[in-house]
This record gives sequence, C-alpha cells and structure tokens, in this order.
Amino acid sequence: MKTMWAPWRMEYILSEKTDVCVFCDGFANNDDLTLLKGNDTMVMMNKFPYINGHLLVAPVRHISCLDQLSKPEMGELLSTVDRSVQILKEVMKPDGFNVGLNLGKVAGAGVEEHLHFHIVPRWFGDTNALTVFADVRVIPEHIKATYDNLKPYFNKLELTTKN
Ligand SMILES: [Zn+2]
Repeated sequence: MKTMWAPWRMEYILSEKTDVCVFCDGFANNDDLTLLKGNDTMVMMNKFPYINGHLLVAPVRHISCLDQLSKPEMGELLSTVDRSVQILKEVMKPDGFNVGLNLGKVAGAGVEEHLHFHIVPRWFGDTNALTVFADVRVIPEHIKATYDNLKPYFNKLELTTKN
C-alpha cells in the first residue's frame, strides 16, 4: 500500500467527539494505541503526541486523583512509568525525558477524568522536530511505526506484570 496516511482520516480523528474514555476504551476494546494491559496499569501511545514516542501510563481503574489510588496501584503505576522509560531508552535512544502529570483542565489535561502520566522522550535539538510533528498529517504514520517498534517490548513486559 503506497498511501500511508490520508487527510480525510485525520479529519475523521479530529472530528471524533465521543463520551467514551480513551483509556477505558483502549483497555477494553480498541487496541490500536494500547501497548500494555497490566493488572492495575496500562500504557498507550498518545494519539496527539508532542513528539514521536509520547506515551501515556494510566491506572486501569477510571479515577481522576492520585489519592484515589490504592498503595499497590501507586507502586505499579510508578514502576510501569519506569519500565516504559527503560523501553523508550532502548528502542528510541533519547537524550532525556519529560515525565509528568497534568491534573485538571487548567493544567493542560486533555482527559482529566482518567489519571495518566505523560512520558515525552527528548532529544538534543528536538525543538525542530516538534515543529515537524505539529504537522498533523504526518502523525498517524509515525504513531503506527512507533507502535510496531515498541509493542514487542511491552508484550514481554505484560507477561512479567501478569505473573
Ligand atoms: Zn477511563
């Protein structure tokens, strides 16, 4: 197939306005962006990444605040953030990371009702790349390619977290 992306597809994505939580839907149904389904935590590709390799790590439970996490969930969440960073290091060789939480719309949370950590790999000089990735037409292609690169590593991780 020659055409890896199509503008109408992007319009479709941008016009998608559903009440479905992307995390709960990603865990239960839609696998396109979901890299890991653990017992208590999950990892997804960000559909609208700041940069290639932008991952989201969330608890499986649909909760919005850190204080709603149980102790084991809190432990697994941070450990999944760490393991995701390790996988990105191995596969994408970034120079550093921004890791963080946006709590509430005012802080920039796109999906504020389901808690999630952002992991953004950074490379020296990547402010140029950020401009490139701001061109929405290239994003779906990059997401798919990056997903395929990362998925085998998360498959291995899934086996260990489930046991
Ligand atoms: Zn949810």
